Amino acid sequence: MDESLCWHRQLLLEKTAEALRRNGFTAKVFANRQELRPFLIEAAQDASTVGFGGSITLAQIGIAGELKRAGKSLIIHGRPGLASEERFALMRQQLSCDLFLSSTNALTIKGQLVNIDGTGNRVGAMAFGPRKVVLIVGVNKIVHDVDSALRRIKEVVVPPNAHRMGYAPPCTKTGVCADCNSPERVCRITTIIERQPRDSHIIVCLVNENLGY
Ligand code: SF4
Repeated sequence: MDESLCWHRQLLLEKTAEALRRNGFTAKVFANRQELRPFLIEAAQDASTVGFGGSITLAQIGIAGELKRAGKSLIIHGRPGLASEERFALMRQQLSCDLFLSSTNALTIKGQLVNIDGTGNRVGAMAFGPRKVVLIVGVNKIVHDVDSALRRIKEVVVPPNAHRMGYAPPCTKTGVCADCNSPERVCRITTIIERQPRDSHIIVCLVNENLGY
């Protein structure tokens, strides 16, 4: 990567990490996914059960195999071939797992985590339930404020995610949000986590790489 680009991204990550800490979160900055992986293994050390929020970032990090080899019981609802009752049962189990791994759709430089869900399992587990939550955030997800976050989610995140999950709202046909009223709409629950929720522990891992959508 170009040195000045890398420097600017690092600066953004460090400033956002400082804002997250002011908001009560734990925040750590990593140069790349290779540097992140040992931290994730260590974070899972005292966990028996590890829940995975549906996340392209997590798939790109490729940590599931290592955690399984370390003896962790993985709760992954996105496995192909699951019946919908099985999928929902796993989503419910994720709400009480020891460690929940996910990403966030957007992160503001003021340290706010902004997400839009269709079912609510991911944002539910981020906000309450698991003893520890680790969120992995590529530098591409950092935005200026909540308005930019919501715009990013509807313009950049939702169309490919809806396509990936097999839904067909208007944005999967036109590429842009129509603020639809379609039964296929995936934008149903919007959350802004502004401060670390009471009695929970959210660790945000900021990575100087583009990860996920
Ligand atoms: S509101 Fe509808 S059209 Fe807009 S991003 Fe969400 S699903 Fe797509």
